[in-house]
Amino acid sequence: MFDELNTHDVQLFYVSLGQALVKHHDGRLNLFYMLQYNDSRCRIKNDYNLILHKLDFSSTLDLSSIQVEHHQRLVNIQINLSNLVDYVKYILDELESNDIKKNSYRHLIALMKKLDRSIEGFRKEISNNLTYLDELTGLLNRSAMEKDLAELIELNDEQAIVTSLSLIDIDYFKLINDEHGHTVGDDILESIADIIQSSLRDTDTAYRYGGEEILIVLKGSSLDDAVAVMQRLRTKISDYVFICDEIELSITVSIGVTSIKSSDKVYRDTLIRADECLYSAKDKGRNQVVYKI
Ligand code: GH3
Ligand code: MG
Ligand code: MG
Repeated sequence: MFDELNTHDVQLFYVSLGQALVKHHDGRLNLFYMLQYNDSRCRIKNDYNLILHKLDFSSTLDLSSIQVEHHQRLVNIQINLSNLVDYVKYILDELESNDIKKNSYRHLIALMKKLDRSIEGFRKEISNNLTYLDELTGLLNRSAMEKDLAELIELNDEQAIVTSLSLIDIDYFKLINDEHGHTVGDDILESIADIIQSSLRDTDTAYRYGGEEILIVLKGSSLDDAVAVMQRLRTKISDYVFICDEIELSITVSIGVTSIKSSDKVYRDTLIRADECLYSAKDKGRNQVVYKI
């Protein structure tokens, strides 16, 4: 959903939506006070406008709709909010001449509940996205990896398709930090994540496993297929010229590849094999792919 967004944008939107909702709920309290007491002090047009101003947070949604285009949940909130605001306008106009009817209250509350449900669904979706995203690289994080791998292993016996795992580690990354600074290190990590992300197929998923280690889960890929994909990726990274602070740098990665076996009972069984392969790739001189069944 937030593919083209970075985590920071999502967080900013989450905060501004939260602020708008505080104001919106304050507007609801003001509205009910006015409907309940309907005294002359409250019937000033400015108060009406103030209530509507507090209730209507469509400008916050408009801002985000540029970022989260065509997002159905957001569209639902917009529709529900607009229905509520229109009805509040109608009810406030009615209040000028008559007391408010019981049915109007009911309808108002139903519209509010409908809006609340759509907001709640959207907020849950955003917070799930934030929970599972790595801030620096934009890849899925370790929590997402643990959840997905546990599910994969559980299904392992029932599924005929093979899944392979690749563990990627940047070579001599500490040296890059030491020589060029941590910020350059961060930029390179981000660029490598971008190269990986843009090289993957829809069925492959990349996770930030640890500091400078990235795990790729290749669903439906045999060990041979996964090794071929990883060889291409390794070459792509080693051929790439990274430019940070006007410095040109060449980076290599080492990769360990294995497949999930039917004897793997927990995902750590598979990960340990991938890690052993990675260790062996480092041992053999780095910038290479090592695999085992
Ligand atoms: P090797 O080829 O054996 O993998 O050498 P290495 O230097 O990459 O390995 P080592 O595990 O000794 O060091 C990993 C370094 O990665 C240490 C740490 O400073 C750096 N690192 C981990 N996470 C980050 C990060 O988010 N940003 C930056 N800039 N550096 C990171
Ligand atoms: Mg490492
Ligand atoms: Mg390393």
